[in-house]
Amino acid sequence: MMDIAVIGSNMVDLVSYIERMPKEGETLEAPDFEIGCGGKGANQAVAAAKMGSDVMMVTKVGDDLFADNTIANFKKHGIDTEYVVKVPGTSSGVAPIFVDKESKNSILIIKGANKQLAPEDVDAAAEKIKKCSVIVLQLEVPLETVYRAIDFGNEWNIPVILNPAPASKELDFQYVCKSDYFIPNESELEILTDMPVTTESEIAAAASSLVQKGLKNVIVTMGSRGAMWVTNEAVHVVPSYPVKAIDTTGAGDAFIGCFSHGLVKHGDVLEAMRKASAFAALSVTKRGSQASYPNEDELQPFLL
Ligand code: ADP
Repeated sequence: MMDIAVIGSNMVDLVSYIERMPKEGETLEAPDFEIGCGGKGANQAVAAAKMGSDVMMVTKVGDDLFADNTIANFKKHGIDTEYVVKVPGTSSGVAPIFVDKESKNSILIIKGANKQLAPEDVDAAAEKIKKCSVIVLQLEVPLETVYRAIDFGNEWNIPVILNPAPASKELDFQYVCKSDYFIPNESELEILTDMPVTTESEIAAAASSLVQKGLKNVIVTMGSRGAMWVTNEAVHVVPSYPVKAIDTTGAGDAFIGCFSHGLVKHGDVLEAMRKASAFAALSVTKRGSQASYPNEDELQPFLL
């Protein structure tokens, strides 16, 4: 048995740490630069694996110098790479990221091989995905592939977590409703609903509008304000852990990976959200995305 199938993207993060964002036409010197493994799918897989879940990854890499590094990184975290496929003549996914001194970030995405993750790749991995307790999806790969994975989860009674990131207006709501846990951040919620999300009551109203359309569970991550779980019956807010934020890149992925782990291990949604909030809070206290994720030993004292 496996715990979690993450079907989605991988990227190599090229992170420049800068004083402030450059203006149009301006050249700035970045005092610091780091290369890290990232991509929403890979981040979520690594977060779940760091908590102790058995994770398989279905993704595509290019045939450049980043591909072997990405596969080695999955293996280092004990993630199953049987369905991490190399695509000849294509670049791997790359993400140039700028982080300013207030820890705000701007991110460019070059999807590369991720664009070629096809519905057939889900079919090819079917026997192994069937052994998983949860399927985790994001939107950095083609929507048809996401839809195939949602159908697969429904067909085999495997709960599907859908993180609609980056937000896409083209996302078919029929499929969205077939996911079991829909986890946007505030700005994704705003784009998907065309509703304001400034206050918590506005966020609750926007999330409730999705529940009224048929979604079972909407969990909105709200940055330093924590996370909100909205269902037909109730609205729960899990506050964030107060920390000094250094770099919030990958915080949402940290939350989703750790939440998925909790869902598999005990199924208590609020408990899984609390632990995910702690995990994500610790991740913003360090630079990078995956590089900032704690392991269970680092997390436990923080939870006390
Ligand atoms: P994204 O990275 O997708 O924008 P969020 O910013 O909503 O996602 O962050 C995801 C989760 O990370 C939040 O729900 C919260 O638990 C945690 N988090 C993010 N920023 C902070 C912060 N400044 N302090 C504490 N926790 C944070």
